[in-house]
Order: sequence, then C-alpha cells, then structure tokens
Amino acid sequence: MSANYSELPGKVAVVTGAARGMGATFAEGLLAEGINVVGADRDFAAMSATAERINSQDVQGATLVPLEVDVTSQAEQNALADSAIKHFGRLDFWINNAGVFPQTGVLDITPEELELTFRVNVFAAVYGVQAAARVMGDHGGSIVNIGSVASLRVRSTWLSYSASKAALEHLTKFQALELGARAIRVNTIAPGYIDTDMTAWLHETPDALDKALEGIPMGRLGTPQDILDSVLFLLSDSSSYMSGTTHVVDGATRHKFV
Ligand code: NDP
Repeated sequence: MSANYSELPGKVAVVTGAARGMGATFAEGLLAEGINVVGADRDFAAMSATAERINSQDVQGATLVPLEVDVTSQAEQNALADSAIKHFGRLDFWINNAGVFPQTGVLDITPEELELTFRVNVFAAVYGVQAAARVMGDHGGSIVNIGSVASLRVRSTWLSYSASKAALEHLTKFQALELGARAIRVNTIAPGYIDTDMTAWLHETPDALDKALEGIPMGRLGTPQDILDSVLFLLSDSSSYMSGTTHVVDGATRHKFV
C-alpha cells in the first residue's frame, strides 16, 4: 500500500539496517513513494541482494543504492552521508534503524553484550544524526530513530535492550532541540513486537508466541508495513511541526501487563 505523499518524489533518504527486516521494508516503501535511498548494512551481500530485488520492480523511477556500513563506526556513517550526496546530490531523510536485541539476565550480562547493544542501538544514532546534519542543506529534513516499546517495559532479560532504547528515545529530544533551527526534525518510533528475523524466537520457542500475543491487546504481531506507514508520515509534510516526539506503534501492548 502506498500513502502517496505528493511532496516526497525526488527526495533522498538513508536507511540503516536495510538488508532485511523493517529496514528492507522501509527502503521498498520509500522507493514506492519516489524517494531515492542509500541502504546501509554491515552484510553487503544481503544488502546488494535486497537492492537488486527492489530495483528490479522499477518503482517510481527511484533507486536503492546498497552500501556496506557498520553503523558503530562514525567514519563509516560520515561516508554513508557523503555517498547519498555523491549518488543523488542531496539528503532529506535519515532512518536510524539498525539494531540488535540480545537477551540476557541482569546477573549474567557481559561487558561485551552491554557494549555492543549500546554501540549499535545508541551510539550509532548519535553518529547517524551528526552525519546527516552535516550534509543536509538549508532545506532541512526529517530523521527517524527506531526505538522500541521495550523502553517502557521491564523484563528480566531485556536489560541492555530496554535501557538502550530508553536512551535512544531521550537523546532524540536533544537532537530535535539542537537541529530545530535548521528545520531538521528528529522523532522516535517505538514499535511493539514486529514479525521479523529479530523476533524469530517467538516462532521457535515453545509457548513464546502465545505468551507474547497474550500481552498484545490487538491480538497480533505487528508487521514492518505497520511501522513503514508511521515512517512515511514522519518524513512527510503532514508532520511538519512534529519533532522530539515518540510515536508508539504497538497495538496497545504498553498498557497490558501479563
Ligand atoms: P532485524 O534483525 O531483522 O534487522 C536488523 C538489521 O540491522 C540487520 O540487517 C542487521 O544486520 C543490521 N545491523 C545490525 N547491526 C548492524 C551494524 N552494526 N551496522 C549495520 N547494520 C547492522 O531487525 P528488525 O528489522 O526487527 O529491527 C529493526 C529495528 O527495529 C531495530 O532497531 C530494532 O531494535 C527495532 N525494533 C524491532 C522490533 C521487533 O519486534 N522486530 C520491535 C521494536 C523495535 P545483520 O543481519 O548482519 O545482523
């Protein structure tokens, strides 16, 4: 389904973690709106295969350029922003989507896991916004940080993930504050359970899916398309005065305790 925002065709976006999952759906959905995209992932083979699949659909004359990027590297994120300018001559949108979701209890968590989670889920969003703001012109832009409803929940094995997404949500407010005068908006989307590889364990662990569904008032997992619709809204002029906000898209999961 396409939202058809008339101001979006010809614009240029960066999507991180775009080889699969939500990032691949975002890239596909942005192209369907006529937005050119640089898709970044640390797995270049997967990123290239995704780009080939999406580009073969020849959607709206827009193109997805694949790039190998480890988002934990500030230098690689700067090169990513430069690549958008090199390929398309401008940058309007940036989606900090790449993320990791390790699950370990409070007493078992290791320095390596803590560090990885914060480097990918938090530090990378700082570097991404710095890189984007450096090359976005006077026309301004819109940046979306993909958080999680986990930032609002306390589960024993979600320590590093929930804390990282809470940090991301908070730093979004600082980014919005600092960049507002340059007409660059920064918002967080906080999805609930979305059916991707990241949540494959729900289908693989006995009873996990039933337990998760028990906690979702709408009675189903979300889809990447559910989140894409919010991303497009936040990129579009329909949200032109929204910045520093968190959009929770979770089927009301945050209100139910099971
Ligand atoms: P997936 O695991 O399906 O995809 C994440 C992508 O990010 C993968 O392609 C992964 O590459 C890539 N990635 C991870 N680390 C890096 C890195 N250092 N540099 C570049 N790319 C990297 O996840 P989802 O699509 O489900 O999640 C997307 C975002 O949404 C994440 O931020 C996640 O935390 C958030 N989210 C997801 C929810 C869910 O239920 N699925 C719920 C709420 C939020 P690789 O394959 O190599 O790991």
